Amino acid sequence: MPHQLIDPYARRVDYLRLSVTDRCNLRCTYCVPAEGFRFLPHEDILRYEELLRLVDIAAGLGIRKVRITGGEPFVRKDILDFLARLCAMPEMHDVSVTTNGLLLASVAKDLWAAGVRRINVSLDTLQPAKYSAITGVDGFESVWRGLWTALEIGFFPIKINVVVMKGVNDDEIGALAQLTLTSPFHVRFIELMPFRPETYRQRYLSSDEVMEKVASLGELIPTCSDNGNGPARYYQFRGALGKIGLISPMTHHFCPTCNRLRITAEGALRTCLFVESEIDLRGPLRRGFSDEQIASLIRHAIRTKPQRHQL
Ligand code: SAM
Repeated sequence: MPHQLIDPYARRVDYLRLSVTDRCNLRCTYCVPAEGFRFLPHEDILRYEELLRLVDIAAGLGIRKVRITGGEPFVRKDILDFLARLCAMPEMHDVSVTTNGLLLASVAKDLWAAGVRRINVSLDTLQPAKYSAITGVDGFESVWRGLWTALEIGFFPIKINVVVMKGVNDDEIGALAQLTLTSPFHVRFIELMPFRPETYRQRYLSSDEVMEKVASLGELIPTCSDNGNGPARYYQFRGALGKIGLISPMTHHFCPTCNRLRITAEGALRTCLFVESEIDLRGPLRRGFSDEQIASLIRHAIRTKPQRHQL
């Protein structure tokens, strides 16, 4: 019987979201705090060797999918070598990356060569000026080029993550959804989460409201993801090349099927994005704990995975 991580609510945890840096080359209005944000000192961030060891231990416990995130993964030096080593691990059936796409055009070829086949790209607008206003960087063209370069190389699926904000980009829901008519992108509309309460109160729009707008454009056929079960509900316009996804952490939360663990850039293990409690793995890694001791910390965390978030 292979090792498996089963939590107290009978969910099998086989998916790890691994943050490789807290640094980012964007300053999105809804993500980072307006002021007082400080990057971690370099020595507090897990080294690649440490990250690989953790993934190896997690693989021994039944983790089979890993998504690399950040911060922005592509701002970390030597990230492509790290990804190649991750993809070479036989137990990891699925290695994917979440990126803001700013550097994607320049790394896409090497990313493919490293073995990555799936990417998620965050893009909240199709309008360059609005992109700059949301992210603080004049970067729309770079992301757009990155998306099409990745498509040409063969990445699939390419998911475009759109955080929907009332009065900011809700007027573009139609245009973003219609991208899927002629291109195979999976455009996924995500409910704004309250990381910055003042933005949240003004800007939140539910997935049901998004769905109403999308459905007014044409018949939508329910469909499934191209890579197993994730948090999104998927639909397709008749004859469309791409798909439309709705991710609703606030209204149709996906806790009952949550199969995730998260490790932050400084090595804190979290069993839920919205729960403050975490287990430090960096200390034990650096104090010489054995693989088995670290594995038992992970097993212990799984036993405390909450049934659902309390937002
Ligand atoms: N830099 C990478 C990127 O841009 O995809 C990875 C890290 S970023 C924090 C991961 C995802 O979280 C992005 O899709 C971003 O839009 C989303 N995100 C950040 N703040 C959010 C919020 N308040 N509500 C919903 N999604 C949010």
